[in-house]
Amino acid sequence: MTPYDASPAQAVSRSSRPPVRLIDGFGRAVTYLRVSVTDRCDLRCTYCMAEHMTFLPKAEVLSLEELDRLASAFVELGVRKLRLTGGEPLVRKGIMTLVENLSRHLRSGALDELTLTTNGTQLAQHAGDLARLGVKRINVSLDTLKPELFRKLTRGGDLSKVLAGIDAALAAGIQVKINAVALKSDNAAELPALIQWAHGLGADMTLIETMPLGEIEEDRTDQYLSLADVRRDLASFWTLTDLTYATGGPARYVRVEETGGRLGLITPLSHNFCEACNRVRLTCTGTLHTCLGRDDASDLRAVIRAGADDAALDQAIFAAIGAKPEGHDFHIDAARPAVARHMSTTGG
Ligand code: SAM
Ligand code: SF4
Repeated sequence: MTPYDASPAQAVSRSSRPPVRLIDGFGRAVTYLRVSVTDRCDLRCTYCMAEHMTFLPKAEVLSLEELDRLASAFVELGVRKLRLTGGEPLVRKGIMTLVENLSRHLRSGALDELTLTTNGTQLAQHAGDLARLGVKRINVSLDTLKPELFRKLTRGGDLSKVLAGIDAALAAGIQVKINAVALKSDNAAELPALIQWAHGLGADMTLIETMPLGEIEEDRTDQYLSLADVRRDLASFWTLTDLTYATGGPARYVRVEETGGRLGLITPLSHNFCEACNRVRLTCTGTLHTCLGRDDASDLRAVIRAGADDAALDQAIFAAIGAKPEGHDFHIDAARPAVARHMSTTGG
C-alpha cells in the first residue's frame, strides 16, 4: 500500500465517471489537465532552461499528497485526461507512488487516460511499472538521433539512455509519441530522418515550434523555424494527407503516406488554436494556468494550505476556469519572452 491517504476503495466511492463541470466563459469544456510535478530536470535543453538554473525551494513545491489532492479534485470535476510533466517528471522523488495513487481513477472509470511527457532518460527503469499501472501512451521528447548534437542541445545528455527508455516503453506495450522541437540551426536538416525513424518504430511524431517562454541565454529568433516551411519542405518529397484527428490542442495532424505514420505540427506562433482548447495546466507550485500563452494564474496551493475543504477547493477551481482567457498572445521577440515563466515550470 502507498504511504498516503488515497486507498482505491475510497476513490471508487467518490468518483465513477463524474459529469464534466468545468465549462469556461466561452463554452469550452475543460477535460484535460497537465500537472507539472517538479521544476527540476537532469537535462538542460538550450531552448528550455538556462545553463545554471535556480530551482525552487522544496517548501514551495507541492508534496505528493497535495499533487494527488489537486489532480483528483479536477478528476472529480470531469477532467478525463491527466498528463504528468515537469521539469522531468521521472526525476521527482516518489513519482511512481503518485502514478500508482492516481491510477485509481483509471480503475474507477473516472479517468480515460493517465500519461506522461518525459525526456526518457529514466524511462528504462520505470516503463514496466508505468504499463502495469495503466499508462498506455507516453510522449518522449527527442530532438536528434546524433549523440554529439544531443549532448550539445541538452547540455550533457546521453542519447543512449533515451533510446533505451523508448525501447523499454515499446517492449512494455506503451505507445510512444516522439516530440521534437524544430530548431533552425540544429536539427532542421535531420527532421525527415527523425520522422522516418519514429514512424519505423510505430511511433507518432510531433514537431513543435519554439515558444517564447522563460528567460534563456540564446537569441530565439536564431532558433525559430517555421513549421509552415518545414511542411512545405517535407511535401516536396513526401505525400502529406491532412487528418481530422484532433486532441483539442495546438497540433494539426497529417499522415505521411510513404512512412504510414502520423505527424503532428504544433504551430502556436503561426496559427490560432485557442477555439478548441480543452486544457489547463497546474505548476509544481500549485498555480493553475488556464492559458499557456498568458500570465493568468490562480494559486491553488494557497487555497489548500489555508485548510480549504473539498467544496472550497472546487469553488476556487470554478473561479479560475471561469476566467480562462479566450486566446493567447505569442510573438517572437528575442529581447523579451512573451511569458516570463519557463516551460519547465508550466510543463509544456
Ligand atoms: N522534461 C520533459 C520533456 O522534455 O519531455 C517534460 C517537460 S518539457 C518542458 C515538455 C516539452 O516542452 C518538451 O517536449 C520540450 O521539448 C518542450 N519545450 C521546452 N521548452 C520549449 C520552448 N521554449 N519552445 C517549445 N517547446 C519547448
Ligand atoms: Fe528538461 Fe524537458 Fe526542459 Fe529538456 S525540455 S530541459 S528535458 S524539462
